Amino acid sequence: MADLSEYKDVWVFAEQREGKLMPTDFELVSEARKLADDLGQKVVALLLGGEGISEVAKELGGYGADVVRVVESPLLADYTTDGYAKILCDKVHEYKPNAVLIGATTLGRDLAPRCAARLHTGLTADTTHLDIDTQKYIDFLRTSSTIDVDKQKFDLEDRNLKMTRPAFGGHLMATIVCPRFRPQMATVRPGVMKKGAFDQAKADAVKVELESFELTEADIHTKVVSVEKAAKELVDLTGADVIVSVGRGIAKDVEGGLKLAQDLADELGGVLGSSRALVDDGFVAADHQVGQTGKTVRPKLYVALGISGAIQHVAGMQDSENIVAVNTNPDAPIFEVADYGIVGDLFKVVPQLIDEIKAAKVAK
Ligand code: FAD
Repeated sequence: MADLSEYKDVWVFAEQREGKLMPTDFELVSEARKLADDLGQKVVALLLGGEGISEVAKELGGYGADVVRVVESPLLADYTTDGYAKILCDKVHEYKPNAVLIGATTLGRDLAPRCAARLHTGLTADTTHLDIDTQKYIDFLRTSSTIDVDKQKFDLEDRNLKMTRPAFGGHLMATIVCPRFRPQMATVRPGVMKKGAFDQAKADAVKVELESFELTEADIHTKVVSVEKAAKELVDLTGADVIVSVGRGIAKDVEGGLKLAQDLADELGGVLGSSRALVDDGFVAADHQVGQTGKTVRPKLYVALGISGAIQHVAGMQDSENIVAVNTNPDAPIFEVADYGIVGDLFKVVPQLIDEIKAAKVAK
């Protein structure tokens, strides 16, 4: 068993693509800041990439990183599991972080389990909530679970990372701890943690350390020949301010319903989202899906058209600032999370909404 007292600081693996940091990095650093403050420790971001990648490091400081450790190498310009896993594991052995957070992106889901296995530690995949402080964890349970916390015994001194994630198809949440090994590792769902405010003074003050490392071509068993982007620009649901989502309520005229939803989205300057029902039926591409097995979103405005509000859908959109739901069924669960509800046929309601928005724009 590891000597746990040797392990300090909360690390974030900062993912970059073509030299640009990912939005998830800022969410993770902001979350790591809170956890590290509860521990009285530092937030360290680990940034790997090709020559010159250190130029983007300071931005991580603006969201709360105290130190950014940078490994620059032409061998790290493109992501390879071998190259990135070797460096991450080497740096963990060298610095012994208490916890390592990695975005649950395609890349993170590939990298994190490889590293956890090599480091002989646990990994909680796809976490949606993290706590160090036990009192904060109890408060979280009190507000978001049916557990009678007053009847449970908690160790208030416990400083293990409590990693919560949906389990059994989202019907319950499981909290997982890794008490005997370090680092405590978690992948975190993009869009779930709130990005803090950017602070230029902190960005200027962050310590950027260029790390020494050992990596040769022989360490990497795959070669990236070229990177082909998907022909179609994938929809950016997590970054959108306005999302108009459609569900099976458009079933009687799918084509017409999709057009109406897209028109409303265009009028509001938003993007099209969807429930899983339409994705499973092949009417909408998977990158539009909101929910537990789709994207987690928190736009300023979320419009749900003909969506019942199943728990797995709500899990992905309930933190939106304003929720408007249109549904023929007054008892649809979506109305429980909606700020504004319209009971009616979306095929009649949406054209009226579009007309009203157009009229309001003209009146301005
Ligand atoms: P329905 O539940 O069929 O609801 C259609 C709604 O439209 C009804 O409320 C109806 O009253 C209303 N309606 C009908 N006609 C009209 C009309 N003309 N105008 C207005 N309203 C109308 N689902 C997701 O969305 N995202 C996920 O990520 C997800 N992950 C899942 C993971 C697991 C493991 C499982 C088991 C399920 C998951 N689901 C997910 C599926 C989820 O349980 C629901 O089946 C799905 O969300 C239902 O989609 P819906 O609301 O579009 O359809």
